[in-house]
Amino acid sequence: MKHPAPTHAVDMLIVGAGFAGLYMLHKARSMGLDALVLEAAPGVGGTWYHNRYPGARVDIQSMEYSFSFDEALQQQWRWSERYAPQPELLRYANHVADRFGLRDGIRLSTRMAGAHFDEPSQRWTVQAESGESWSARFLVMASGPLSSPNLPDFAGLKDFAGPVYHTANWPHEPVDFSARRVAVIGTGSSAVQAIPIIARQASELTVFQRTAAYAAPAHNGPLDRELEARIKADYAGFRARNRRMHGGFGSLLPPNPVSALAASAEEREAAFEQRWKIGGFAILGTFNDLLMNEQSNALVAEFVRGKIRAIVKHPGTAQLLSPTHTIGCKRLCVDSGYYDTFNRPNVRLVDINQAPIERITSKGLRTGGREFEFDALVLATGFDAMTGTMMRLDLRGRDGLRIQDKWHAGPLNYLGLGIAGFPNLFNIAGPGSTSAFTNVIVAIEHHVDWIADCIAYLDAHGLHTIEASEQAEAAWAEHVNAAARRTVFLSCNSWYLGANIEGKPCMFMPLAEGFPRYADHCAQVARDGYVGFVLQ
Ligand SMILES: Cc1cc2nc3c(=O)[nH]c(=O)nc-3n(C[C@H](O)[C@H](O)[C@H](O)COP(=O)(O)OP(=O)(O)OC[C@H]3O[C@@H](n4cnc5c(N)ncnc54)[C@H](O)[C@@H]3O)c2cc1C
Repeated sequence: MKHPAPTHAVDMLIVGAGFAGLYMLHKARSMGLDALVLEAAPGVGGTWYHNRYPGARVDIQSMEYSFSFDEALQQQWRWSERYAPQPELLRYANHVADRFGLRDGIRLSTRMAGAHFDEPSQRWTVQAESGESWSARFLVMASGPLSSPNLPDFAGLKDFAGPVYHTANWPHEPVDFSARRVAVIGTGSSAVQAIPIIARQASELTVFQRTAAYAAPAHNGPLDRELEARIKADYAGFRARNRRMHGGFGSLLPPNPVSALAASAEEREAAFEQRWKIGGFAILGTFNDLLMNEQSNALVAEFVRGKIRAIVKHPGTAQLLSPTHTIGCKRLCVDSGYYDTFNRPNVRLVDINQAPIERITSKGLRTGGREFEFDALVLATGFDAMTGTMMRLDLRGRDGLRIQDKWHAGPLNYLGLGIAGFPNLFNIAGPGSTSAFTNVIVAIEHHVDWIADCIAYLDAHGLHTIEASEQAEAAWAEHVNAAARRTVFLSCNSWYLGANIEGKPCMFMPLAEGFPRYADHCAQVARDGYVGFVLQ
């Protein structure tokens, strides 16, 4: 990409107007910085703008998955359900943009193509696909951990005569599947949410499954107003308690502080049953070692498989729906009637693990020598997670260092926040931080606040740039890896490892040590004068 001279200068350029970009803009302005957001989509909201598939909703409770930075906002906003649906989350993002007067700082329908660091001026030259360009002292990548849909290269996909939808790029007008034969490829979180609803509309639904998913019931429903009042009576305290939880949520029901191996079989069963009734991620906190110890993990995995066998009437289908990997090493799905959907006469499950999809045809697809016909195809094939969005950019640091070269063996950085060779560039909720292992809004607020403090420090000390050192990066990569090794997360192929994308380097990307330890670590680095970073 040839960079023309920038036409505008700002203090901070922010890429993305999801929750991260919105809060970063608000924070930057509160510090008196001239900041601008570039957003590829025609609206704000990020994840909740793009992922409009039937059933899309949050799987961390809304009283927790929401901003805490403004007391009046958290007091006045009222969620309708325990787990907010996508349209409500999108309204919330729009409300935040309006409430804090952010719209005039956001350029919608403007995709950033790349950015080059200019040594003489020590500034970034940022180029949009439209050809416009900006000069910025700071570049903040708020471009999302899950914002590049994975479109597998199925042979013949272009030949399919009917409509093809990706869950992460769903049309804005309603999609009506009634009287249609529909196929869904994939059984991750999005598919688990969409399948029960599509099955109720479609005349026939065929689900093509490569890996069975563990799903815990959401028990979603109208928000309990008593609970809301209780939380709002001390929302700040509730948020603070959540920030001391491993995942930045769940303080109302902390993990039981004993090992699953210390309980008798009857005690375990009763405890799992109790948490299953509560729903969501609660089941993984039944004991404190379910994600750390494979033996303990096997006990809860078998409990969930027992639930699947009890729900799904056809034994062969139940067997196929029963995962064999460790539970939690791929993100646990939170469902509303997923397994029961396979009892419907109009739904069938096809295993594509043993016999992968050979090709898509004009009328359907071929696998294992069998032809399947359908009228519409839904790809629930997930994301090129955590690095995919940045790796598509023409992003160049000092001496023209390309991000693709820097990250050819995996995403190197320090604290997940800074990258050696890329001065004054900050990454929010990306690899190397607790990101996807956290209530992501907690992760976002923490990163934005840290970045703001860091900039204030630079200014207070008359410094111009900050950049991770290569030594700190190498040590951090080992730190991230070591944290994963203490868990069950390395025991299966997941998007945490990049294993869902062909040719992607295999490196464990999110930090599994828990949000409190990570936040303490980041705070210590700041207190020590940003040790591990080079400041100039
Ligand atoms: C279906 C789904 C359900 C989820 N559920 C949960 C949940 O229950 N709990 C939870 O904690 N997290 C959940 N997540 C994770 C979710 O991504 C985060 O919670 C959060 O919304 C991320 O916000 P963000 O602002 O960092 O990124 P995003 O919301 O992804 O926003 C990034 C924005 O950057 C824009 N962008 C990217 N590249 C460019 C470019 N080159 N130029 C301009 N703009 C660009 C994108 O268009 C997008 O709007 C879910 C994710 C998905 C996909």
